[in-house]
Amino acid sequence: MMTQPTVVISLDLELSWGSFDHAYGENLLKMARWTHDIGVPNLLNHLTRNGVPASWAIVGAMMRSSLPDVSGLPEVRYPHFKKSWFDYVPKNGDESAHPEWFGASLVKMIRNALPRQEVGFHSFSHVPFGWPGMTRERAVAEFSYCAQIAKEFALPTTCFVFPRNSVAFLRELRDAGFTCFREVDEMPIRFASRTLASMGAVLADFTGLTPRMVDASLKEGLVSIPGSLMVRYAAGWRKYIPDSNRLRRLKKGLERVRQTGGIFHVWFHPENLYAEWPRLENVVAHFLEELGAMVRNRDVRCLTMGQVATEFQTKAAEQFGSPVAVGSMDSWVVSIPSESD
Ligand SMILES: [Zn+2]
Repeated sequence: MMTQPTVVISLDLELSWGSFDHAYGENLLKMARWTHDIGVPNLLNHLTRNGVPASWAIVGAMMRSSLPDVSGLPEVRYPHFKKSWFDYVPKNGDESAHPEWFGASLVKMIRNALPRQEVGFHSFSHVPFGWPGMTRERAVAEFSYCAQIAKEFALPTTCFVFPRNSVAFLRELRDAGFTCFREVDEMPIRFASRTLASMGAVLADFTGLTPRMVDASLKEGLVSIPGSLMVRYAAGWRKYIPDSNRLRRLKKGLERVRQTGGIFHVWFHPENLYAEWPRLENVVAHFLEELGAMVRNRDVRCLTMGQVATEFQTKAAEQFGSPVAVGSMDSWVVSIPSESD
């Protein structure tokens, strides 16, 4: 079933949680603080003034104003990070003292925004699920901590984005009540190996290859929504990618989805707008302006991941004529997708 021209934007919001295991230090904290104070409010403003909803996949542990009791999480040890996972995280103090780690006020801001934004989860503590060192017990605990926070904040357990896009333990994710997740990107060209694929990603950024349109499918009882294009940060050699090339590539995606249908799924980290600021913020702002105009013109529609999942489930149910088990039993939906996600 081909989806009508649809744009989905998913955002991985993580502050310091996203890379403390790779590069803990002053730079990380500065970047996280900037994201908390400037990056998220600015990005939210670009979305709302253009009438565009996005799916914000947020690290569960930063949704609260301080760290909850994490003793129920079995320890993980990865080859790349020998410390205890919460070693760097402030155990005392709250968001006002540690805005690099906690963003309860951001969640509130996002939830109060119009058009309505979706708040989803980017795991509880940003452990990579498919990496050696991860255990099923920790995965299950991560999902249940997310579900617990969802309950606390009266949020739906709809959309989930895996840290580092490392997709694993889908059955357990479904059992925790989630309905959809972001699958890894579909590349503009298919490559024979990972090395070639990452070279292809570089090439695609530089030359502005038209991104792939994707469609939702069913995996382990969850609605899988692959990415089309990640807006990468402008650090390292990537700062030499001209902003105009980045924007052109995004616009090519919009043009393609308008013509062919399917889903153009753009994703990035608000944190990534920090390097070379405000270059990338301007690229994103222009893209959202273009998208907003197309939505008002009814050339495309812009949905959250949760809305795509609901629509997929509804169509699947119609197609098979009887209730199909999609997601957990009670998430089976036949109503028309509404504003409520
Ligand atoms: Zn992440």
